Amino acid sequence: MKHFGANKLDDGVIQAELCIGCGACVDLCPYFRSYRGKTAYLFPCTREEGRCFAYCPKVEVDPDALSRFLFAKPYNGDPLGAWRSIHIARAGARVKRQPFQSGGTVSTLMYFALRSRRIQGAILTGREGLLPVPKLVTRSAEVWRHGLSKYAAAPTLAAMNRAVAAGYEDLGVVATPCQATAVAQMRMNPLQNPSFRDPTALVIGLFCTWALDFRKFEAFLAERVPLRDIVKVDIPPPPASVLEVYLPEGKRTFPLDEIRPLVPNTCGYCLDMTSEFADISVGVLEGRPDLNTLIVRTERGEEIVREAGRQEYLVMEDMPAENREHLEWAAGNKKQRGVRCCTEAGRLNGEAGTACLRLNGEVIERILKNEKNGKESSCHI
Ligand SMILES: Cc1cc2nc3c(=O)[nH]c(=O)nc-3n(C[C@H](O)[C@H](O)[C@H](O)COP(=O)(O)OP(=O)(O)OC[C@H]3O[C@@H](n4cnc5c(N)ncnc54)[C@H](O)[C@@H]3O)c2cc1C
Ligand code: SF4
Ligand code: SF4
Repeated sequence: MKHFGANKLDDGVIQAELCIGCGACVDLCPYFRSYRGKTAYLFPCTREEGRCFAYCPKVEVDPDALSRFLFAKPYNGDPLGAWRSIHIARAGARVKRQPFQSGGTVSTLMYFALRSRRIQGAILTGREGLLPVPKLVTRSAEVWRHGLSKYAAAPTLAAMNRAVAAGYEDLGVVATPCQATAVAQMRMNPLQNPSFRDPTALVIGLFCTWALDFRKFEAFLAERVPLRDIVKVDIPPPPASVLEVYLPEGKRTFPLDEIRPLVPNTCGYCLDMTSEFADISVGVLEGRPDLNTLIVRTERGEEIVREAGRQEYLVMEDMPAENREHLEWAAGNKKQRGVRCCTEAGRLNGEAGTACLRLNGEVIERILKNEKNGKESSCHI
């Protein structure tokens, strides 16, 4: 695949309002910076090909190439992507109760990976006020400080770029699906750098239906709650249909209909609900917000999950078929919406350098004809 440079990334993604602010192009060079949730292109760059363009999860993504690279099989548009096993999980007896978003599976696995020296550092997302902030964590005890979901899109991967430049190897990364796609693209060494070494030893992907634009989210909440006092934000699984803000004096809830206008349009172009290009993917178990859904996708993911379970860091059981079917339904809906959105905008298999996504006709048809889906597949969040 031909790659392009920073000018094309600026024109085709940032100026076209497709940028989600994942941080994959930030701090690779002096030109891209992240400021309060937005990625800025500071000066024109003359290179015709750049890692910035090649890593971006919003342009020229080829799921088939990613699937062949990570799983040695073609991408076929299945709702949950490639997987080996699916479980219900939570932090086990070896873990003291910490502030987790749900079952604590993500923080526990990153803690275990650092403690057992499977990784040299963990790339996590902390927060300053409401602003999500990328963090490199090298001491296992620090992992707990960065638990909880920050629902605004985050430039997490800027910390990964900085860690790689500083010489860290074997990194663990916690990533939303768009970020996990960018990480998978980095791992493919797209510009064929001869001294390249895969910087990751573990990628944990989060489930994501959509994220919020930080600036709009902050402005929305600033009028309604004291921002400095926010302890936790949650979007409990359906049928709740609310965003919850936890404060020392109690909880405030806001209907999701008031929150959806704060979602950037680019989330509508996204097909991936379950971080299909990660080693392990984690979400909230529907109906049980204190538990996680855990999808194991790769051999290295399987090894760490098995060992964390054996050493009682993690408690797991198989996922009942009806939970899995519902998850497939939700993930299939997101795929249909993403395909429709990209098609309407002329960004599916479009002109070289401008397409969001490349899919073959058979896969497109398979996604759109998934009979279990269809009701929520228009191009709207
Ligand atoms: C924007 C967003 C949307 C989500 N949407 C869904 C959904 O639709 N359905 C679903 O089941 N689950 C969703 N999740 C995942 C869910 O909220 C929990 O993160 C997940 O279930 C793990 O729970 P846990 O208790 O193991 O996490 P914890 O142990 O509390 O760890 C949370 C981890 O998330 C990382 N993190 C927090 N915010 C961000 C961010 N903005 N970007 C990248 N990493 C971050 C932290 O670094 C931390 O490692 C979403 C998460 C985010 C951030
Ligand atoms: S790599 Fe991420 S931050 Fe950079 S332009 Fe693409 S989406 Fe935006
Ligand atoms: S919906 Fe997709 S693009 Fe938006 S934050 Fe989630 S993974 Fe990223």
